[in-house]
Amino acid sequence: MRPAQPRANALGASIAALVEAITHAPALGVDRAALLSAVAQPRADVARRPTVSTRASVAIFRRDCWTCRYCGVKTIAAPVLRFLSEIYPKEFPYHANWKSGEIHESWLVLSTSLDHVVPGARGGDWTNPDNLVAACWACNASKADLLLEEVGWELLTEDEVRSDWDGLTGAVEDLWKLAGSPEGLFKTWRLALAYAGAPLSAVRREVARHE
Ligand SMILES: [Zn+2]
Repeated sequence: MRPAQPRANALGASIAALVEAITHAPALGVDRAALLSAVAQPRADVARRPTVSTRASVAIFRRDCWTCRYCGVKTIAAPVLRFLSEIYPKEFPYHANWKSGEIHESWLVLSTSLDHVVPGARGGDWTNPDNLVAACWACNASKADLLLEEVGWELLTEDEVRSDWDGLTGAVEDLWKLAGSPEGLFKTWRLALAYAGAPLSAVRREVARHE
C-alpha cells in the first residue's frame, strides 16, 4: 500500500496505525472459504431478527474498546476500512458480497462486528447489551449459532479488553473526506460516531427505543 498523504498529524498517526494493524493482522485460524461463504450467505431468518441500531452498536463497541471479546484482536471500525477501500480500490479492495479474492482479507480479520454471546436462535436476548459484544468478523462467523462452551471459548471481560483503542474511529471523518465525501456511504455510522461518549444507560435507552 502506498502511503496516504495525510493533511494532519492526527490523521497521519491513524493511517500509520491502520497500516500497522493491517500488516500485522493475525492469519485466519479458520477455513477461509467456509468463513467467506458464511458471510456471503445470510441466514434465511435474518429478516425476522430484532435489530440493534447502529448507534447502540457503536456504544457497545466503545464499551468493549473496539476489541474482540473472544480473541482480543483490536478491530477496526467498518467505515474506516470502507473509506480506505474507496481511497485505495486496487491495494485494499472491497466487494459488496465479500467475494473471495476480491475483498482484502483484513476485512475478515479486523472489521468490527456485533455478536450475540448466546445466539438469538438459541434463546439469547437479541437486543440486551449484556448479551452483545464486539467481535472480529472471523470469530463472529466461526462461532455462528454455537454457544461458548460448544466452541470452547471464554469471553474476555470488559476489564480485560479495556484500553484506549478506538477502532481508528478518530480517522473516520478525515478518511471520508479523502474518499471524496461520498454522501450516503456509512452516513448512519458517521452520525452514530458523532454521538459522543454514550454511557451504558444511554445505550439501554437507545436499544429500548428500537424494540
Ligand atoms: Zn476475534
